[in-house]
Amino acid sequence: MKEALESVMKGMGMSNSSNKLEPVHCEKCGNEIERIQIQHPFGKGTRWVPVACPCVIKEREDFNKEQERRLKQHKIEKALKLSSALEDIRNMTFSNYILRDGAENSYKEIKKAIENFEERGRLGVFIFGETGNGKSHLTAAGGNELIVKGYSVIFLTEKDLLSRLAATKNFRNEESFHEIMDACLRADLLVWDDFMSSQRLTDEEKDWIFQIFNGRERADKPIWATSNITPEEFQSDAIAYKLDDKGRTWWRIIGNMECIYNRAGNYRKSKAMARAIGITVEEYEKQRKSVEE
Ligand SMILES: [Zn+2]
Repeated sequence: MKEALESVMKGMGMSNSSNKLEPVHCEKCGNEIERIQIQHPFGKGTRWVPVACPCVIKEREDFNKEQERRLKQHKIEKALKLSSALEDIRNMTFSNYILRDGAENSYKEIKKAIENFEERGRLGVFIFGETGNGKSHLTAAGGNELIVKGYSVIFLTEKDLLSRLAATKNFRNEESFHEIMDACLRADLLVWDDFMSSQRLTDEEKDWIFQIFNGRERADKPIWATSNITPEEFQSDAIAYKLDDKGRTWWRIIGNMECIYNRAGNYRKSKAMARAIGITVEEYEKQRKSVEE
């Protein structure tokens, strides 16, 4: 019995302290393995045991890293799969974004939000301003840049989000309520296009919006929202009361965001006007700006 144990221990690279130490080699790389002294597992005294070879430790770490990377990738793809108008969004990057007069502050804020993404936690961005002034392009470009950095991002327009959540009540629906909600809460970033664009919200819709904002706030995750509301509407009671009778939800949401008024005008309008007058878009926008000032 004693001999059998000795031979098992020897096979494991453990030797009786009275024996001369024989070198142990790694089965993988063949290098000699370092040994440390530990308490004998069954008896008294200490024994020499080999530590894991650095090559084995590295292999294990690489494996774990790869698993982690795959999980992350899976999360990214899952969020993207549930996004609205994905093809358009993937094409909106900084390389094809035109920074126009009036959009400087929102541009700077998005850049800052990317740079300090981790540190900002739940602090999101809310960009409002005229339709067609590049808000969505800007937030999509920022979201795409975060995906490249390994973050999961879900892009949703309000209309699409609410109608898809409503559609889950149909039992034949392929998406479940939980699936959409889960993606909205888990994604590292939620880009919410056309926030507050719904004319009137049902109680159920108010509740869904609350659940998403509340869940993300608790998870310390940000939302980047865009909206066509005017600065007057932004401060109005009417908009605050859209989400609840006391206007609490609205101000709580706003409290978690850097709010920026994007003064740039509608680009399509500028293009059409410039063409009509026979000048370039740049010239038209310069004129428009000088009239405003
Ligand atoms: Zn080795």
